[in-house]
Amino acid sequence: MRRVRVAVGPNPYAVLIGRGALSHLELGRSLKGVSSGIIVSSREVMRLHGAALLTAVTKAGLDRPRIVLLRDREGAKTVLEWERTLRAMAKARLDRSSVVIAFGGGSLGDAAGFAAATYMRGVRFIQIPTTLLAMVDSSVGGKTGINIKEGKNLVGSFHQPSLVLADLRFLRTLPARELQSGVYEILKCGLLRSSGLLGLVERTTGLRRATEVELAEAIAEAVRIKARIVERDEREAGERVLLNLGHTLGHALEAATSYGRFTHGEAVGYGMDFVADLGQRLGLTPESAARRIRNAIRAVGPRTPLRAGMAAGVRRAVMSDKKRGGAGIREILLAGPQSPVVRRMEARALAAEAGEWVRRKSTGRP
Ligand code: NAD
Repeated sequence: MRRVRVAVGPNPYAVLIGRGALSHLELGRSLKGVSSGIIVSSREVMRLHGAALLTAVTKAGLDRPRIVLLRDREGAKTVLEWERTLRAMAKARLDRSSVVIAFGGGSLGDAAGFAAATYMRGVRFIQIPTTLLAMVDSSVGGKTGINIKEGKNLVGSFHQPSLVLADLRFLRTLPARELQSGVYEILKCGLLRSSGLLGLVERTTGLRRATEVELAEAIAEAVRIKARIVERDEREAGERVLLNLGHTLGHALEAATSYGRFTHGEAVGYGMDFVADLGQRLGLTPESAARRIRNAIRAVGPRTPLRAGMAAGVRRAVMSDKKRGGAGIREILLAGPQSPVVRRMEARALAAEAGEWVRRKSTGRP
């Protein structure tokens, strides 16, 4: 079992990674003094893995908690589902010493975490991620939130979990495309901070040929990287912005296709491709480094193709990017692997670059 400590704010917490991590539910301060709890999950995840969760919950001493099943994917992150969760919590008479158990992928974790952050001004919560993306990214760092029509994740809160249990056995049922989605976020961490992790992704053809031990180590390393960054900058005032590598174009692609075409990781994969090309064009990324980055991205596997018709939507989405400050966007470029550079770029110019890049890549022109 690998264990990563995340020391953010007054209450450090542990992330346990490995087969059987779920059996450590009773661990730490997270459940001490807990009077009652609620499980927030989805029909699909409970059907696949609910029995294992309920066994662990009973062993941890939480007596028959109420279960709220939210809609799948982004459907979980709506104001209506948030209200439904809060009302279920109130009906279960949860109080300040209760705990919320978030059991599912990143969408579910964001939604359940936001309910935990807002119920009675904040109750404890435990993240039990069931997708690779949630294990390496969304379950750690305390960003929780939901969407409104005007934008994704526009409503949210920083609320750190008390414990994160990343049990590898959940990944057995995860479709290959969802696994791939998480690998892009692992690769992002390698490109930002770890030559070992980047090398592992390259050597194992995007982790597809990785052993379980290597996969566990890759998850742990990605979590360590995120944890160290978040510890120094919880609120994204500085260094945490690096974790947005590939996300300007990534978010724009997701928005331009109404979150239905690409997985989050896939979109970020395209975003990192864009950054390699843009860095090269700006004279920041040497050709050999850009080629290595592009090859590592390609190793992750085949992607849902881009369409030229997305270019206008991408341009619009970059213009309304959440990371915007005034007319500028802090874009993360790479002078090379493990050499990120934050560059403030004029929003209109970056939007034009992104739209043009999508158009060029989808028509296959060099
Ligand atoms: P997801 O939560 O939408 O899940 C994808 C699909 O996998 C769903 O259909 C789900 O039912 C299914 N699934 C989950 N676990 C499964 C399992 N073990 N076996 C089979 N199927 C399973 O997708 P995701 O990629 O995990 O999360 C994406 C979300 O995470 C987005 O909303 C994104 O904004 C958010 N996110 C948040 C942060 C953060 O820091 N809070 C970071 C990155 C992404």
